[in-house]
This record gives sequence, C-alpha cells and structure tokens, in this order.
Amino acid sequence: MAQLIVSKFGGTSMGDAACMLRSAEVSFKQGSSLIAVSATSGTTNDLIALGKTSESQSWPEAEKILCKIQDKHIKIANDLTISQGAKDKLHTLFDEMNSLAKGVHLLKDCSVKAMDALMSLGERMSSVLFTEAMSQILKKNGSSKTAELFDVRTVLRTDDNFGKAKPLTSEVAALCREHLSFLKDGKHIVCTQGYIGMTDEGMTTTLGRGGSDYSAAILAEGINADVLEIWTDVAGIATTDPRICPKAKPIKEISFKEASELATFGAKVLHPATLLPAIRKNIPVFVGSSFDAEAKGTWVRKDVDDHPLIRAMAVRKKQVLVTLSTPEMLHAHGFLFQVFRIFNDHKVSIDAITTSEISVSVTLDDSTLLNKRLIADLSTIAEVAVEENLALVSLIGNNINHTPGLGKQIFEAISDINVRMICLGASKHNFCFLVKEDASSEAITRLHRSFIEENAEEMA
Ligand code: ASP
Ligand code: MG
Repeated sequence: MAQLIVSKFGGTSMGDAACMLRSAEVSFKQGSSLIAVSATSGTTNDLIALGKTSESQSWPEAEKILCKIQDKHIKIANDLTISQGAKDKLHTLFDEMNSLAKGVHLLKDCSVKAMDALMSLGERMSSVLFTEAMSQILKKNGSSKTAELFDVRTVLRTDDNFGKAKPLTSEVAALCREHLSFLKDGKHIVCTQGYIGMTDEGMTTTLGRGGSDYSAAILAEGINADVLEIWTDVAGIATTDPRICPKAKPIKEISFKEASELATFGAKVLHPATLLPAIRKNIPVFVGSSFDAEAKGTWVRKDVDDHPLIRAMAVRKKQVLVTLSTPEMLHAHGFLFQVFRIFNDHKVSIDAITTSEISVSVTLDDSTLLNKRLIADLSTIAEVAVEENLALVSLIGNNINHTPGLGKQIFEAISDINVRMICLGASKHNFCFLVKEDASSEAITRLHRSFIEENAEEMA
C-alpha cells in the first residue's frame, strides 16, 4: 500500500494562481493523500480588519475590505479558470462573509466567536480554489485520481476556547476513521482547510494564528499518516533566522526534541504545537519550500544521525521579566506554589524561571501585561517588578547541561552584552538567556559565528 502523506501549504504557497498550481504540482509529485491549506496570504489579517471595522466603523468602510477580499479571490478564480461548481461555492462563501460582517456591524460587537466564524472563511475560500488547481494538475499529468474538497470541520473537533481552540484528539481520530478511511484506496486526494475546527455544538473555531501546521499534524495523527509535510516559503529549518544572520544554513535533520524547543523559543518556521501529534504517533515531519521543491528541506524525526552540541539558535522577542520578592520566602515553603497558582488561574504560560531564596523571576510574553488582574493578584503575595523590552535568546542542541566549557564559549562571544537572566540545567537541549531586545540580533550573530560558522570551518 502506498504511503499516506499529509501535506500542508502555507499562505504564501496559496498567494496567487501560479503559487496554487505550483503547490498542487508539488503535492502530485509527492503523492499527497490529504492536503491542508492556509488562507491566501494576507487574507486572515484582512478578515480580522473586516471584523474590527464592521464592529466600530461605518458600513462603507467595512465594505471596502469585503471588496478587497472578494476581488483577490475572484482574480485567482479567473486566472485558474475554475469550474461553475467552484464559482458557486466561492459565491456562497462571499455571501456568508457579507452576512457575518453585517451582523457584527448591526450588533456593534465582534466577539471572539464571531471573529472565528469570519476568519474561517479565509481557509474555506482558499481550499475551494486549491481543489480546482489540484484537479487541473491531476488532469495535466494524466492521473486517474480525483481531487475532492473536504470540510475539515467534519473531523476536526475542538473545545470551545474560541480564538485558540484545542483539538480533541480521540474524537478527531474516531471521526477520521468514520469519514476519511477511503483515503487508503489511493484514488482520492482530499483538499481541506488548515486552522479551523468545530465544537460539539457545531460552532466554528480556530486553532490560533499560524495554526494550519498544527491542523495538518492533528490530521496526520488522526488518519495515522506515514509522513507529514509542511510546505512553506523557506527551504526548511535553518540554523537561525537568515534575516538576522545571513550566514544561517539549512538543517538537514533535527530531532523532535530539538525542533520543539526551537519552535517554542522563537523559530518562526513551525507552529510550536505542530510537533506534539507527530511525536505522539512518531510521524516524521518534512519541512520544505513549495517555491523550490528540489531544495533539500529539513527532516524532523525521533532519531537522527548526528547530535551536535549546538545545532541552531533562536530569539523570542517581546518578553518581559517579572520578579516577585518577599522576605516571607526565607526558609518558608509554599511560596512557589502560590505564585504558580496565580499564573494557573490566569492561564498564563511561563517560559523561563530562576529563583533565589527570597525572589523568583519568570519570563512572559509582553501581551500578558495587558492582564492587569494578574499583576494585581501577584502583588497580593509579593513585591512585583516588571522589566520590559527583553528578548530570550536560546541555543538548541544536545547534551547542553553536561558539556564543560560551554558557558565560557557563550559568554566570551557576547562578553560586552548584558545578560539579565540565565536558564541552564533543566534541559539537555536548551540553554537560554535574556538580553535587551535591541541587543538580541547582535547576540545571535556572534553566537552563530562562534558555534556554527567556526565549527563548520574547522570541519571543512
Ligand atoms: N491563516 C491562518 C493565519 O494566518 C493560519 C495559518 O496560516 O496557519 O494565522
Ligand atoms: Mg502561516
């Protein structure tokens, strides 16, 4: 039996008719069975603007955005010369977009629930167009397979945390068995939406920005796929962000553990949750560029051949350091418990943490500060100090907490950059520290030179 391959194409791979055809050609060559697509590039942002404008401004202002979104999709539809059936589907979606925006406008209320319904249209429109592109490529290549549009909400059951809904893994698996088992016969290519899902009550949800990767991984888990492919506009995962450091190099192979750290600590290529389903089912993940399918790309797997001390580095900006101090912590117990309970009550995720006898410092995304109650609650148990404009720089690799001399090499490379906090020891795969945001690019450039470029020179 042929391999079951799930492929995901991001927004830039859906950018226009040529991009869609190129992506469809890649899927055909790869033998994809299930393809999840993002909204065409920029459309999710436009839909958010549509929701906000409909809520707070005059209707003609909202209509301008509506027209912009429709025109973009009509242009792709015309360039592809799509079938009448597909045109009808597209127009039904335009009508739905219109009604939703109008409803928001009349109520002057764009709730997260309404926003999810609006945003879902991005992926629902692009998938109609992509199914057409896929059909054309199948025909051109003389394939007997058929491309079928599938509403992912039939299988992608989520909780009702609108805006960042959580997929319900066992329900998804059961629904995939019920609705997608036919994929095994190898005669169909199912084209569907990334990013969106549905609650038990039939309400549309989204998985959070950039969530299409995660959707594809959840679907790969649900149908027991052999391979998950993430096609984007860069040729795989690089040793660091090439926009920060032009000498960044593509990575051929990286372990699940390292790649998870890399995604969580700021590398933009993969949505941080993407690897969880792949890890659960041990599904190898390929990350490649739909614009340059011949480029090697990166494989992310459980076991990899080499285990370099430092494989990659990332920076996560917009961090704040919150320090809680209280003399009551001296020789007492239970203080950390109280601190974590407050963060837990506010559903805030902490990334890095250090403690001393009477204080504890944690790093948070700066958006957390918008939650004034959190800071007020923390102030009831300790003195709270907040430092802003920080960035978390992390080095990702292997055996990091057992390698002598690593700290020396790191701090020599950045000896004149003030390091505000260090986290080392908890993970074999990660060493991270906080610096001022405006020093973070320089820190990355120097560390890349020291750990990756100079290493390559020695080996050459
Ligand atoms: N279209 C969604 C976004 O822009 C999801 C995705 O592209 O992954 O966030
Ligand atoms: Mg994306």
